[in-house]
Amino acid sequence: MGFLNAVYELGKQEERDTLSSFLKLPLPFEKTGKNNEHKKGGNEIRVHLRVENVNENPIKVLGVNSIDLVDFMSGEKDILKWKNKYLYRDPVGANTSWKFTPILKIGKPSKDENKRKATFIGEKGDWSKENKTHFYKIKNKMLMDYENSGYFTAGSVDRIMKGLEDEIDQIVDLFSENESHLIIFGVDVDEKFLYPGEIPAFKKYFKEKIDSQIGKGKTVKCSMCGKETASTVNLDKVFNFATFDKKSFLPALDKNSSSKVFPICTDCFAIFSNGRERLDREFMDMRTIPGMRIWCIPEIIGSDSSSSLKNVVNQFKEYVAKENTGIEDMFDSFAKFKNENLLFHFVFWEPNNAQEIVHLMIEDVPPTHLRMIEKCWRESLNAVGDNEKQKKLSRVLKFVYQTITSFGKDGGKKNKADLKVLRDFSIEIIGKLLNKEKINVESIKALFVQLIPKLLYSSEDNSGVKRDSEIKDMFLMIDFISRFNSEVRK
Ligand SMILES: [Zn+2]
Repeated sequence: MGFLNAVYELGKQEERDTLSSFLKLPLPFEKTGKNNEHKKGGNEIRVHLRVENVNENPIKVLGVNSIDLVDFMSGEKDILKWKNKYLYRDPVGANTSWKFTPILKIGKPSKDENKRKATFIGEKGDWSKENKTHFYKIKNKMLMDYENSGYFTAGSVDRIMKGLEDEIDQIVDLFSENESHLIIFGVDVDEKFLYPGEIPAFKKYFKEKIDSQIGKGKTVKCSMCGKETASTVNLDKVFNFATFDKKSFLPALDKNSSSKVFPICTDCFAIFSNGRERLDREFMDMRTIPGMRIWCIPEIIGSDSSSSLKNVVNQFKEYVAKENTGIEDMFDSFAKFKNENLLFHFVFWEPNNAQEIVHLMIEDVPPTHLRMIEKCWRESLNAVGDNEKQKKLSRVLKFVYQTITSFGKDGGKKNKADLKVLRDFSIEIIGKLLNKEKINVESIKALFVQLIPKLLYSSEDNSGVKRDSEIKDMFLMIDFISRFNSEVRK
């Protein structure tokens, strides 16, 4: 329950109302570039709809006025304000015929103009028959549901699609390379573009979709606050974990048992949604292990937890701002906290379509333990005479991952099966480090012994220097794990 409680507390802190609790930004607020510079989250292609009366429901769409491109969150960087404007929430599945809001994420475009065009209208231009094209998705997986559920008048979607077809060349031109893009449908009123969250019918539609997630049935007790209610939501509406072989992670996520194993009331649904959004925005590390997302969630135990947690969160934010280290050093900043009644929970997961695959969940890690890992690392670096590597916690975790998985690379070409096994193995070791569990050094030695010949006799482009450093890293790894094990035994 440590993890769930921590998310719940996070969700309770921030200002929220019935709608904004369910919202998130459609792209990261900002991201870190290759050279650690801060970059904007991406671009928006805005489709300005011409409507008869924006305050009516249903809205009669007359056509497309214009299409333009602006920076994501252009102007004032007020996150709450922008969340309310975008009115965004991730779709409930990869294959649904509706979205919470008329925003389509289309990622980075192809450099080739013709290919780019084809992603919208298909190779032959017959997008209505090609379900992978953006136009097909815009019509059939997003806008049509507005018409079918009575939020657009009949014929509105056809007029929008006609407008988009007429502007296709301009849409294709608007993309800038290497940026993520969103397509946002809004309405022009007095020459001002209104975002989805500024349009009453879109807000009502969003609310209706949120309500459709809430089940009505027998009166039960909310698993979090204990309130008696007939309107409940199961926790998988907040965490879409695929936990086939790891059912024990969270009680609510066992798909085979009753869906109401962990019912929560609508208020707690809002709180959890809010907490989840903050996890993704403020407490997610994406740089330690390639492709892996790691939530690091602080929790205060003991009395007066709410205000203490606020302090820790603020301290953490200040640290990040001051040092300008960005998200990369999240682990390092956590190791610096001195609060005695502070614990961290870590969840390692990967997105897979609309699901989240959990690799590890480690609860109740005190900052003192993180510092212990750092201490062993520093001692090992000294012992093997390595002055180049950083002495921080984040470096240790990256080192374990890189050293183990480097054996999966054969002559520059990655051997996929090997790499997967080695990746899982390295994550298992990282899990034990964080969880203060003894690690089997023999299994690591055995791996090294087995792989050394491959390393020595693989391809010619492996220079002698490279091999030296890889073998040195093996010694460093064994020294470090042994030191860690002896600390665990204490
Ligand atoms: Zn509740």
